[in-house]
Amino acid sequence: MLTEHPVHLNDHYDVVVVGGGPAGMAAALGAREAGADHILMVDREKDAGGILWQCIHNGFGLHHFKEELTGPEYAQRYLEQVIDHNIDVLTDSYVYDIDRDKNLLVMSGSKGIHRIGGRAIVLAMGARERTRGAIRIPGTRPSGVLTAGLAQKFVNMQGYLPGRRVVILGSGDIGLIMARRLTLEGVEVIGVFEIMPHVNGLNRNVVQCLHDFDIPLHLSTTVVEIHGRDRVEKVTVAPVDDQLRPDLSKAWDIPCDTMLLSIGLIPENELSRRIKLRLDPVTTGPQVASTMETSVDGIFACGNVVHVHDLVDFVSQESELAGTGAGEYVTGHRRPADNIRLVPGDNVTYCVPQTISTDREHTVYLRVRHPERKCTIHFGDVYRRKLAYVFPAEMVTVKLQPRVLQAFHGDTLNVRVEARE
Ligand SMILES: Cc1cc2nc3c(=O)[nH]c(=O)nc-3n(C[C@H](O)[C@H](O)[C@H](O)COP(=O)(O)OP(=O)(O)OC[C@H]3O[C@@H](n4cnc5c(N)ncnc54)[C@H](O)[C@@H]3O)c2cc1C
Repeated sequence: MLTEHPVHLNDHYDVVVVGGGPAGMAAALGAREAGADHILMVDREKDAGGILWQCIHNGFGLHHFKEELTGPEYAQRYLEQVIDHNIDVLTDSYVYDIDRDKNLLVMSGSKGIHRIGGRAIVLAMGARERTRGAIRIPGTRPSGVLTAGLAQKFVNMQGYLPGRRVVILGSGDIGLIMARRLTLEGVEVIGVFEIMPHVNGLNRNVVQCLHDFDIPLHLSTTVVEIHGRDRVEKVTVAPVDDQLRPDLSKAWDIPCDTMLLSIGLIPENELSRRIKLRLDPVTTGPQVASTMETSVDGIFACGNVVHVHDLVDFVSQESELAGTGAGEYVTGHRRPADNIRLVPGDNVTYCVPQTISTDREHTVYLRVRHPERKCTIHFGDVYRRKLAYVFPAEMVTVKLQPRVLQAFHGDTLNVRVEARE
């Protein structure tokens, strides 16, 4: 693992990036590319790289580097570039507070408490996993109930197995990856139980992690009770109806010592709330313009803190744009303001960015509410594209060209996905 240079901390930087995961690293590089001089990236962990260090499986970088890398390899490649570009990296340091004048309060074991000013700030704090409390599973509170990402950290970074007989609740990607990982470590994975009628992870993970290892997937089924005093002894699972209500008459017990939760990620927005950024009620992350600038002038955001991504490659792409925005902000080369608001319509949960401009190309990321085969995505009447299928777990990315947008004269563009005959 590459370690950063010792940093001589200044009181002021052109751009300060909060979070040194894939989003933070790409943003710092974007800011450098756009001409920002003094750039600081702060991360609370011992090393920058974010969640990638614990993702030791392959499948990263297919879009960005056109080769298949593991999480640590992907992190390493970015970190090398960050260091080559003389970006100050401050690790083991927690950004505790930010004000609207862009002053940050940073707490660090080695450097104490510092107030640092940034001319522009990029928020890249990532996301955290939803826990048992978020879905209120009835039962006792024994040990052995943990999130899939925590189990991933135990197994891949610390060499501990979380248990011997495991039930996985939720079919998010981290749960699917951990079903395979634990099986390879000799743990018995009894099955993955998903309350929705469709999986919540990528199809490639269902095939490579469940089908290839004969791990059963139970759709429309959930855990209705956890049993055990000190340690999990069993869980009760039951099928649900189309209103997601469990049918307890068909419930059954599964003896196990561990239950992993893979029930979604929540953007880490404590700082965003402190500065009172305008948040999107659906993504729960900050609303952003096409340069990834938030509702506060000079504060940008990117990566999982804005919306939860399925592939890290898209995180890097989006975050480079945020960094470019921050760099252009401090060098006085801001782009014209956006003039179109994207409004999620039929079968669209959200769009990021929330606004775009007619003067340049944009990549819009969106998610759908329900799966659909053979469908068409419409941006008002100005753009449409046929898709073979859409799936809530897979982010849809659409490139919009200025010549298409210039044909539009309104200020809101309805985005919808419709089934084709
Ligand atoms: C457990 C887990 C496993 C995953 N596995 C995969 C996978 O296998 N494949 C895949 O493509 N995607 C995976 N993802 C999705 C992954 O989150 C994204 O692809 C990507 O890592 C998001 O990048 P990010 O930089 O936005 O967030 P992160 O990688 O989470 O990085 C955020 C960084 O910000 C730091 N930070 C947060 N708050 C502060 C603060 N106040 N002060 C200082 N530092 C702070 C954190 O310590 C962290 O290092 C996984 C996500 C999780 C949570």
